[in-house]
Amino acid sequence: MTIELKSLTKRFGALTAVDSIDFDVGDGEVLCLLGPSGCGKTTTLRMIAGLEYATEGDVVLQGKRVNELAPRDRNVAMSFQFYALYPSLTVAENLAFPLHAEKMSKSEIDRRVQKISDTLQLGNILGRRPGQLAEGEKQRVAVGRSIIRDPTCFLFDEPLSRLDVQLREEMRGEIKEVLQDLSRPTVIVTHDQLEALTMADRIAVMRDGRIEQVDTPHNVFQRPSNLFVAGFIGTPQMNLLPATLTDLKGDGVAEFAVEGDQSMVIEVDRRVEELARGAKVTLGIRPRNLEISREPSADGLSTKIDMVEPMGAETLVHLKDGHHDLRLVTDWRVPLAEGDHVHTKFPPKMTHIFTEDEQLLRTK
Ligand code: ATP
Repeated sequence: MTIELKSLTKRFGALTAVDSIDFDVGDGEVLCLLGPSGCGKTTTLRMIAGLEYATEGDVVLQGKRVNELAPRDRNVAMSFQFYALYPSLTVAENLAFPLHAEKMSKSEIDRRVQKISDTLQLGNILGRRPGQLAEGEKQRVAVGRSIIRDPTCFLFDEPLSRLDVQLREEMRGEIKEVLQDLSRPTVIVTHDQLEALTMADRIAVMRDGRIEQVDTPHNVFQRPSNLFVAGFIGTPQMNLLPATLTDLKGDGVAEFAVEGDQSMVIEVDRRVEELARGAKVTLGIRPRNLEISREPSADGLSTKIDMVEPMGAETLVHLKDGHHDLRLVTDWRVPLAEGDHVHTKFPPKMTHIFTEDEQLLRTK
């Protein structure tokens, strides 16, 4: 493991900005720190870079504890955006710029520029100036410039935040490919979940200075370990419904009562059998997993269509039952009108169960 954080903590006076976090990032791995504003992402990144000293805990780079080392002695590359090319310099000169500060020989500089140019396919634009480049090309050069020093790891803080939507989409895929080829550990800070889901090998979801889950994008989305992650990841947001377990019918089939005297019998994770009747839970179902029908049945709730929102290829339907608002996304055209009564269905095994302590139901 080449970046290891051990019980890393940062306090600013009475405020604990980062609260005893642990994670590690391997060679060639991209870890995204994702979380709402103020949760401690940037402070974590700055502690790895040495721009902020840890109050407690350790930063270990390539097996060596670096807590007391100054930023330049850590040999990390930290960049805030992939966007600051010198307009009067050519692409090759822009790429070489960070190397001049290191008093490197001309032949070594040329070798590095050539290598980066090969990696990022910049060969035919090396002689051009930024003004003559397309936006995507400028970005590739800027990426090249931030990685050319061949540091031990890469740290990026909201690297795509200033780009327009289309360029962001292009860059997300491209950056991931480049970073994988470089065989260095990378940490990217972002508050944009789509960015994290597409670029990361693993995502660390942060809240209030703590890490809520470190996992693959697939698992963070499919198996959120607690209510916060469940509600934070995924748009539209997962439906979260407070409920009481009223009966167990075997094979993971359980009856739940929800506010407003409604109940439903649905098939969930078999671990539900470990809960006692009367247990308070929160049921979570993604809007794309919820279904509706006109026929009443026991596996869902009776609701009324509150609003139908076309979103291009899909439609977002808002449902209400007087106590709950549910969101459903479908790719068919909704042959229903606002005000219609419908029955929501919770298909087998699509519902997550969170226990009273807000954790995903697990085997004890
Ligand atoms: P954002 O996405 O808004 O940048 P973040 O998750 O990166 O947020 P941080 O910038 O790490 O969050 O800040 C975490 C907390 O620490 C915030 O409450 C912030 O106000 C506080 N903080 C950060 N730097 C300092 C500082 N130098 N002095 C005092 N408080 C600070």
